[in-house]
Amino acid sequence: MIAHGHRVQPVYIASDLVWQAAELAALRGLLAAMQTAALAPLVVLKLPLEDIYQDHWSLTGAEIPGAESPDEAVYLPGRNALLLIKAALWCHRRGIERVALGVLGTSPFADAKSAFFDHFQAAINLATGARIEFLRPLARATKQDVMRLGRTMPLERTFSCLAPHVGLHCGVCNKCTERRRAFQVAEIPDRTVYQSDPVSAG
Ligand SMILES: [Zn+2]
Repeated sequence: MIAHGHRVQPVYIASDLVWQAAELAALRGLLAAMQTAALAPLVVLKLPLEDIYQDHWSLTGAEIPGAESPDEAVYLPGRNALLLIKAALWCHRRGIERVALGVLGTSPFADAKSAFFDHFQAAINLATGARIEFLRPLARATKQDVMRLGRTMPLERTFSCLAPHVGLHCGVCNKCTERRRAFQVAEIPDRTVYQSDPVSAG
C-alpha cells in the first residue's frame, strides 16, 4: 500500500488469542524494520473474545490444528467481521475511508469472499453514514505470491503461527507448515527461527 502511494495506519485487533504476545512482538519488529514517513505508529484495539470463543483452541492452545490438517481447520468464527468492525469504526471516527485486509484468494472461508465484504461494507456504511471502502489487495494472491511480493522485506519478522513457543514459530502447526512450504515454493530463503522441525518421514 505504501509503494502505491498510500499513507498507512497499521491496526492490530487484540482478542487475547494464544499467539497474541508473539504476534504483537513480531509486528512491532516488522513495522520498526519497515519504518518510513508514510507508516503511522501501530494502533492496538481491544476486542476480547473469551466470552464468545470459550474453549476454542485459539484461546486454550489445546489441540491446535497440526501440519496435516486442512485449511478449513483453522477457521476462527466470525474472524473477518470481528477484525473489520473495530478497525472500520476507528477509521470512520478519524476520517479514514479505506480499510485494507490481507485475505488471500486461496482462503476457503465464506467471510473471505467478495459477497461478505460487499455486504459488510454496505451494512457498516448504512449504520454509520460512513463511506468506508474495504480493500483486499491480496485477494487474487496465493501465499507464494505474497512471499514473492515481499521478497525485499524482512519476511522472517512476519508472523504466522498458531502455537508459538517463547516467541518463536512452533514449526509444526498448520500455519507453520503452510509458511515453510510457501518459502520453498517461492524459492526464498526461510530465515524464520522455528522452535522445532517437523518429524522427518525418512
Ligand atoms: Zn506454528
